[in-house]
Amino acid sequence: MISFGQTGIRLFPVGFGGIPLQRNTEQEAAEIVARAVEQGINFFDSARAYTDSEHKIGLGIKGRRDRVVLATKTMARTAAEMGADIEISLREFNTDFIELYQCHNVRTEEELQTLLAPKGGLESLALAQRAGKIGHIGITGHKPEVLRKALKEFPFAGVQFPYNYLEQDNKAELIGLARQLGLGIIIMKPLAGGAIREAEPALRFLLAQRLGVIIPGMDRLEQVEQNVSLAQDIRPLTPVETEALNKDIAGLGQDFCRRCEYCQPCPAGVNIPNMFLFEGYYSRYDLPQWAKERYEASAVKASACTKCGQCEDKCPYSLPIREKLEKVHALLG
Ligand code: SF4
Ligand code: SF4
Repeated sequence: MISFGQTGIRLFPVGFGGIPLQRNTEQEAAEIVARAVEQGINFFDSARAYTDSEHKIGLGIKGRRDRVVLATKTMARTAAEMGADIEISLREFNTDFIELYQCHNVRTEEELQTLLAPKGGLESLALAQRAGKIGHIGITGHKPEVLRKALKEFPFAGVQFPYNYLEQDNKAELIGLARQLGLGIIIMKPLAGGAIREAEPALRFLLAQRLGVIIPGMDRLEQVEQNVSLAQDIRPLTPVETEALNKDIAGLGQDFCRRCEYCQPCPAGVNIPNMFLFEGYYSRYDLPQWAKERYEASAVKASACTKCGQCEDKCPYSLPIREKLEKVHALLG
C-alpha cells in the first residue's frame, strides 16, 4: 500500500481509471468495479465529463463503500458551476461523501486564476469540504508549468498528471515539487492514452518508481486481474522488457499527440489536441460513437483548419498537424 500524500489515505498501488467504463453496460461495469474492490483495488477515479462513469462506479461499490476511496473531477471553474457539479457527482456515485474532488484539466494561468478568485471554483470546494461532502481537493492537468504554479498558490492535497514510458519529459520538476510539498500523486494515462501496447512492462516501469497511484483504465475483468497481479509483484524491468518497450514506442515514431497544448491557440479556433483526442477514442479506446458525438458537438471542427501552419511551428514533437487534422475529419466528419 502507498500513502496518498499527507491525507492519511492508504492506497493499493494500482487504482481504477474510470474512462473506459463508459463503453460497458451497467451490469458489466458493476461487475468489473466489484471485482476490482474484491481484489484489493481501493481507488476509483472518474470525472463529470466521463458521462455515466460515476454512476457505474456507484453501482459497483454498492455494499463495499467502506473499502473504497472515491475521486472525481470537473471542468467547472466558477463557484456556482462547481457547487452544482459536486452535488451531481454525489448523486451519481450514490454516496454522501467523496474523498477527493479535483479541478479537471487546468490548462492555463487564466483558468487557474478563475478557480482561485472570489466566486471561483475553489470557494465551492472549500465549502463542500467544510460541510463534510468532500474530503480533499486536488488538481489535474497536462501542463507541468501550470500545475507547478497551482501547487504553489493553493494547498491542494493531490495532483494528477500524465506520466508513462513515452511521456517522461518535463515532469521531474513537477514530481519534485509535489514530493517536497508532501502531496499525493496520481499518474494518469500510464499507457499514453492506449498508444503503448506493451501494457505489462509499461505499468511495471511506473510501479517500480513508487511515485504514486497509477490509474489504468479498465473495462474487462481480465484487466483487473492482470493489473492487481502486477501490483503484487513490483520489481524493476528486465533488459528484455525494456527492449520490448523501446521497440513498442519506437513504432509510434513522432506521430503522436501528447496533449501538451503548445500549439494552441489556433487562429481558426480549432482545438487541436481535442481533435486528436477524439480520433484516439475512436481508434484506440474503442468508443466510436462517443468520439463521433463529441466531434459533432465541437463548435469548430478539424475541417476549419486554414492550413496556416502556425501550430506546426509550435509543436515540440513536429507533428504534421495539418495532415493529421485532415485525417481526423475524414474519420469523424
Ligand atoms: S494550420 Fe490549421 S490548425 Fe494549425 S494553427 Fe493554422 S488553422 Fe489552426
Ligand atoms: S499537436 Fe503537438 S503541440 Fe499540440 S498538443 Fe499535440 S503534441 Fe502538443
